[in-house]
Amino acid sequence: MAGKDNAPSERTTVRRMAVRGEYEKSTVAEILDEGLIAHVGLSTSSGPIVVPMLYGREGDILYLHGSPASRILREGGNAELCVTVTLLDGIVVARSLMHHSMNYRSVVVIGEAHSVDDLDERARSLDVISEHVIPGRVAGTRPHHEREVKSTLVLSMSINEASAKIRTGPPIDDEEDYELDTWAGVLPLSVSAGTPIADPRLAEGIGIPEHISQWSR
Ligand SMILES: Cc1cc2nc3c(=O)[nH]c(=O)nc-3n(C[C@H](O)[C@H](O)[C@H](O)COP(=O)(O)OP(=O)(O)OC[C@H]3O[C@@H](n4cnc5c(N)ncnc54)[C@H](O)[C@@H]3O)c2cc1C
Repeated sequence: MAGKDNAPSERTTVRRMAVRGEYEKSTVAEILDEGLIAHVGLSTSSGPIVVPMLYGREGDILYLHGSPASRILREGGNAELCVTVTLLDGIVVARSLMHHSMNYRSVVVIGEAHSVDDLDERARSLDVISEHVIPGRVAGTRPHHEREVKSTLVLSMSINEASAKIRTGPPIDDEEDYELDTWAGVLPLSVSAGTPIADPRLAEGIGIPEHISQWSR
């Protein structure tokens, strides 16, 4: 993300409801940091695929990781990926079915991915992904074994070419429908953690660490 107010590229310009498009690097970063799952798209020799994956952001770089068996990881190095992250904030309930909608914040990033081959950088990028999902977890676990780092593929991708799209607020109904006796409004949605469930094989005397008990998004 080169500047504060990124000019969108031709392919990251939001067209429909363009007023909901935002390109500021801080907006894109905030959405990426709150999300947990990216849908990663790749055009392969046998057609397009989109799969859900974890990710982590460090500055202008997005990291993806996985098994060498994963097609995205195997074929995604030096290939263009399209990464989409969506935060669902609510269901917008309108007076007509036509105007029902969703409140959301989403980001689309397009760019060339590169395989992270340096093992130190790879280990660090795996920590970035872990910290993205559970802040504080890296300090709470043993260091990576070298064989674990070697057997995990990591792709890095610049988030210079990115757009955000955001919808907030109540439904937007046809003017004449505001007189109808139909309930309308927003049903808020959010990600929240339940009560942690200890592993049945947990050694005795281990309490729930704060980074788990206090986890929130
Ligand atoms: C929440 C979540 C997080 C994940 N995080 C990661 C991650 O960080 N790294 C990682 O490598 N993998 C992750 N996965 C698994 C990932 O979605 C793929 O399944 C995985 O990369 C293996 O793909 P593949 O190469 O075997 O299949 P591909 O060759 O990529 O796909 C082959 C076919 O398998 C089917 N397929 C593959 N994945 C899925 C799926 N998730 N759901 C339904 N059908 C599928 C599709 O039909 C696809 O066309 C995650 C999955 C979920 C649901």
